[in-house]
Amino acid sequence: MNLVADVCIVGAGPGGALLGYLLAKKGISSIVLERHRGIDKEFRGEHLNRDGELVLKKYDLYDQVEQAGLLLMERIEYWHQGANIKTVTPAAGEQHVGIHVPQRNLLNVLIAASESYPHYKLMMGTKVTELIFQNGTVTGLKAKQGDQDLTIHSKIVVGADGRFSSVRRLAEMPFSTIPHGYDLLWAKIPSPKDWEPTIKNALIDGQQLALFTQAGGFIQIGWNIQEGSFPALKQQSFTPFIEKVIQAFPELTETVQAHIHSWDDFILLKVQSCQCPTWVKDGVVIMGDAAHTMSPTGAFGINCALLDADCLAEVLTEALDQRDVSAARLKNFELARRGSIETLQTLQLEKETHYHDQFNVPNLT
Ligand SMILES: Cc1cc2nc3c(=O)[nH]c(=O)nc-3n(C[C@H](O)[C@H](O)[C@H](O)COP(=O)(O)OP(=O)(O)OC[C@H]3O[C@@H](n4cnc5c(N)ncnc54)[C@H](O)[C@@H]3O)c2cc1C
Repeated sequence: MNLVADVCIVGAGPGGALLGYLLAKKGISSIVLERHRGIDKEFRGEHLNRDGELVLKKYDLYDQVEQAGLLLMERIEYWHQGANIKTVTPAAGEQHVGIHVPQRNLLNVLIAASESYPHYKLMMGTKVTELIFQNGTVTGLKAKQGDQDLTIHSKIVVGADGRFSSVRRLAEMPFSTIPHGYDLLWAKIPSPKDWEPTIKNALIDGQQLALFTQAGGFIQIGWNIQEGSFPALKQQSFTPFIEKVIQAFPELTETVQAHIHSWDDFILLKVQSCQCPTWVKDGVVIMGDAAHTMSPTGAFGINCALLDADCLAEVLTEALDQRDVSAARLKNFELARRGSIETLQTLQLEKETHYHDQFNVPNLT
């Protein structure tokens, strides 16, 4: 099958989905490819900060996401030995310290809004396999949807395909990873009755344990462990490990005992961030985690992907208007966004190094 669009976006995560909507709104024809068949992936970051909230409000999308379901966090708390030692409340004039938005709800809203435009097309279960080059400029891509081969001709290809970006690899854009020294164990449990919408942090064996309250009556447990240590941990008895969660948060005793029984109830997530020396080449641009993978610290990544989409929609519109899809023109996106991204990546590393300071408990490692 052969298809034609002004822009072909690879990846319908938060960044790609918002970009698809913004381009559709501007009358630009776009095809969005997503390798998953559905948008219901479990275990991904789902907390928005003020930046993400403002982008959604700017395009009148926030109310729809709110209707679909979200939860405003009332406090960030720091706990030590079963006691709350510090609380961060919303800044003056703010209603929350973060928002839990189930990604299903966010993506459903973005996709439904996009699909009202006839020049927008979303193709689920579709993976990019090759970029098409003409005289060194990317002019489209080849993809597979099940057994079917597709060729899409577009003026610009956008790689919004996350940390393991195929577009980045196919365009031969180099990247360097930043190690963070930790991996993350995630588990989801029902929240106890009357559990308030909070983010609670503790320090266990010198590492961060965080509880994120989720919309729909759940708590996401995020437990940092030393990078690469999970295979060895799994050889050890599970009971003393989970006892530490209960000691840190005694209120969770019943729900943890009812829902977490073994190492298999945790999902391991490898943590790293990355930087790319360039985000653009002639006819192709990468954005979001593909251009600058963010670590989970501080919950910045989705927000950055949304801000990227907002900025890139403008740059692509101008490039298409002026019939100039050269790297030099697309670079305006990178110039606008790279500085704040790199500042946040440095902040993530600092927050990780100084996490202990929140507890004022020296020498706990
Ligand atoms: C454990 C963890 C927790 C996090 N928590 C938070 C948080 O609370 N708040 C926050 O803001 N950020 C968080 N982050 C970061 C955040 O998840 C990412 O920064 C964000 O998802 C990036 O959005 P994106 O749209 O660029 O990419 P992604 O969300 O990764 O989306 C990329 C999409 O591209 C698709 N894709 C990939 N390859 C192909 C292909 N070849 N063809 C077609 N489609 C493809 C993928 O299926 C995916 O849907 C967390 C990260 C981790 C690892």
